[in-house]
Amino acid sequence: MPGMPGELRHPLPYASWETRGYWEGAGRGELVLQRCGACGSVQHKPRAICATCLSDDLEHFVASGRGEVHTYTVTNQNQQLPFRDSCPYVLAYVELEEGPRLLTNVVGVDPAEVRIGQAVVADYWAGEREDGEAIAVPRFRPA
Ligand SMILES: [Zn+2]
Repeated sequence: MPGMPGELRHPLPYASWETRGYWEGAGRGELVLQRCGACGSVQHKPRAICATCLSDDLEHFVASGRGEVHTYTVTNQNQQLPFRDSCPYVLAYVELEEGPRLLTNVVGVDPAEVRIGQAVVADYWAGEREDGEAIAVPRFRPA
C-alpha cells in the first residue's frame, strides 16, 4: 500500500532474456533461481552462464522462498519518488535457504523490529503495467 511506512511502490522491472524466468516466476508467486547442471551451484542473479564454472548448462527451479536477513539498513530519508512516500523502509540482503543472497526489501514489519538472522519468506508485489507482462517484484516479510 503506497504511503504506508515500510511498503514500497517499486519501479517496474524490465525482463531481459536472461532475467525473464526470474521475473515471470515472481509474477506467479514463485521465487525462481538457477542451478548449474555441471557443478551444482545455485545462483542469483540470473545469467547465461554459471558464475562458478562458466558452464551454460543451467536450469531454472522454484526455490523455497524462505531465508533469513543477512544484513539490512533502514532508509529514513529518500526524496526520490516513489520511495519518498514509503520512508522508513528496509533494504536488506536476504540469504536464501538455497544459498544465494538477494538484495531486496523487508516489508510487513515495523522497520525497528527487523533483525539480522530473522526468518523471512518471499512476498510479491505486482504493480500495474500496460505492456501485458505478468511479472512481480520479490520482497520478504517475517516468516
Ligand atoms: Zn557451474
